[in-house]
Amino acid sequence: MTKKKTYTKTELKKFEKNILDKISEVNESIEGVRSTTEPTNSVFIQDRSEDFNEGTEAHEVEKSFLLMSRESDYLVNLKKALQRIQDGTYGICEVYTKDSGKCECPDSPLIAKERLMEVPNATKGVFCKEKKKLNLI
Ligand SMILES: [Zn+2]
Repeated sequence: MTKKKTYTKTELKKFEKNILDKISEVNESIEGVRSTTEPTNSVFIQDRSEDFNEGTEAHEVEKSFLLMSRESDYLVNLKKALQRIQDGTYGICEVYTKDSGKCECPDSPLIAKERLMEVPNATKGVFCKEKKKLNLI
């Protein structure tokens, strides 16, 4: 039995829907930041910086901008992910593609489905991501 090298069309459709859902989530969140200085529906709310604790208006504005630029980056990455779906390269570990087969990710060359549903903009499998973090690649 040969190892699966790409996700099927059906699977890609599912990923695409997941990405589109995330995009609208982020868009809504950005709207929320625009209309109020105290966003409550941000997807990044859980890891907001604790550095701003003075609560002045200037800080609130700064915080909103920070949040917006982070979410815009995320949006850009999600759109790139959509592009990869079109190209048919979505869900394949970037390191595997670049190093032509040298990748030790658990589902190599594919990035695990659970990971893609959770982090739809992921370009590397867990193993390569950790390795990269340690500067081993
Ligand atoms: Zn990999």
